[in-house]
Amino acid sequence: MNYGNFGLDTALLVIDVQNDFCPGGALAVAGGDDIIPTINAWMPRFATVIASRDWHPANSVHFKKWPPHCIAGTIGAQFRTGLNTRHIQLVLDKGTGDTDDGYSAFEATNVDLEGWLRLRKITTLYVCGLATDYCVLQTVLDARRRGFSVVVLREGVAAVEAAPGDGQRALDAMEAAGARLL
Ligand SMILES: [Zn+2]
Repeated sequence: MNYGNFGLDTALLVIDVQNDFCPGGALAVAGGDDIIPTINAWMPRFATVIASRDWHPANSVHFKKWPPHCIAGTIGAQFRTGLNTRHIQLVLDKGTGDTDDGYSAFEATNVDLEGWLRLRKITTLYVCGLATDYCVLQTVLDARRRGFSVVVLREGVAAVEAAPGDGQRALDAMEAAGARLL
C-alpha cells in the first residue's frame, strides 16, 4: 500500500461518525467503532478533510422511519470519541429541517458542498463513515451525479443492514455508479 499523500484536488469526506451511530447510541451500527482507527490513519494524508453530521431537530418526519437520533446539540450528535477531529476543516450539518432526511452530505444546509469543492478545484472524494447503506450511499451517488471522482474506503465504512446484504448491495450500487472501491 502506498502511504503517500494526496494532492490538493482530493479530499477525504467522513460521513456521520457520531455517537448515536456507534455502539451504545440511539441508532447504533454494528462495527461503527471499528472503522475509526482506519479513518484516523487516512486523515493526515489529505490536504482537505470534511466531516458531515446528522443534525436533526427534536421533531422530524425522519423519526417516523428511524428512532430519534443525532438531535442537534446533544451528546448523541457529537463526533464519536476517538475520531481525530483535529484534521477536520469543514463540518457539514444535514437533516436540519423537520421534513428533511438529509442522507447525503450534498444536502447540508450550512454549506453548499458542491460550490465549496468547486471553488477549491477539488475533483476527487475519498469517502468513509456511517452508514454504508444510507448516508454513505446517498453521498456517493450524489457526488457521482455531480461529476466527482469517488473512491470508497471499504475498511472505513459500516452498514446498518436493516435487511441482510444491504451493505453489499450499497457497495455494488456505488460501484455501478462509477465509484471505485478500495
Ligand atoms: Zn438521521
